[in-house]
Amino acid sequence: MSKTLSLRSLLGSTLLPRNEAYILMAHVLDKHYQLPRSTLISRDEIELSAPALEEWHALESRRLNGEPVAYLVGKRGFHKIELQVTPGVLIPRPETELLVDIALQEIKKIESSTKSPKILDLGTGSGAIALAIANEALNSQVIATDQSLEALTIAKSNAKSLGLETRVQFTQGSWYQALKESVTFDIIVGNPPYIPAQDPHLIVGDLRFEPLNALTDHSTGLSCLEAIVLEAKNHLKPMGLLAVEHGYDQSNAVVELMKTAGLSDIQTHQDLSGHHRVASARKQD
Ligand code: GLN
Repeated sequence: MSKTLSLRSLLGSTLLPRNEAYILMAHVLDKHYQLPRSTLISRDEIELSAPALEEWHALESRRLNGEPVAYLVGKRGFHKIELQVTPGVLIPRPETELLVDIALQEIKKIESSTKSPKILDLGTGSGAIALAIANEALNSQVIATDQSLEALTIAKSNAKSLGLETRVQFTQGSWYQALKESVTFDIIVGNPPYIPAQDPHLIVGDLRFEPLNALTDHSTGLSCLEAIVLEAKNHLKPMGLLAVEHGYDQSNAVVELMKTAGLSDIQTHQDLSGHHRVASARKQD
């Protein structure tokens, strides 16, 4: 086999950024040879067989064409878990881990008085938020909703792979319509579609490959946030906490919605890039 097929030369000559090339090549090595990622460093003289080489080139060109790495390898790490992802669900983002941490902090706070905290994740997608919470808060009971049956199938499969299927219940419907009227929660979280319909980012780069209904409300960007915030009181226990993710420039608008909804103790939270990314509030009366 020619020398140009070694891992070293393939990785050295690709137009992909190094970190992406390494993830895709590690995927090829795992799939075709069950070799670990460390092979990329420790045995980079290895030459790929024809089928493995063909797969590498296919993945390389799909990525160069804009397909997200997470869809190409079918998985993405989030908080302390790994999730299966397909183009039927939004790819979990690092900034959304903030929402998980806010929920976990609240669970710690109410632990002594609430044996089994009830959590609602609205619009769960791959199940990322619900499953990351259930994975850490072992006494929590989580209900996760989504309008998309395709998303729920993926979320349920993730729950099973993580051994969390008895702790997280999935239900189909638009926001609170997925629930029985009377249920109330200690914590409600959600990362709804909040990109405005006219945002130019929707038609460039990786976003083009993600489900549009998970990214945009096809309106101002605030309509789903509004639906979640304005009805939250009906589904929160007294002193219950609502926390929602929103766009970098939507903090003031979401705070106003929370005021309109009659919620108290309104707080804004910054992500690691310093953007206001989550707003939280309580039902106090
Ligand atoms: N955070 C995502 C982005 O900016 C959007 C996800 C969403 O609309 N909830 O790409």
